[in-house]
Amino acid sequence: MAVPKKKVSKARRDKRRSNNSKLSLPGMVKCSNPACNEFVRSGCVCKVCGFYRGKKVMEVKADQKKA
Ligand SMILES: [Zn+2]
Repeated sequence: MAVPKKKVSKARRDKRRSNNSKLSLPGMVKCSNPACNEFVRSGCVCKVCGFYRGKKVMEVKADQKKA
C-alpha cells in the first residue's frame, strides 16, 4: 500500500481542506443583476431578483424575498 513519505503539516492540511469546501455546489455564479450580488446556479434564474443573463425574466413577490 502506498504510504505518504512525510507528515502533512497542520497549515498544509488546513489549506487543502479549505480549498475543498470553498463552494458547496460547483457551477455557482454571481447573479447578473449588479444590485443583487446573490450566488445562483449557472443556467438558472435568480430566485432573489428574477434576473437571468442581465434581464428581468421573472416577477418576484415581495414576501418571498429574503434579506
Ligand atoms: Zn439576483
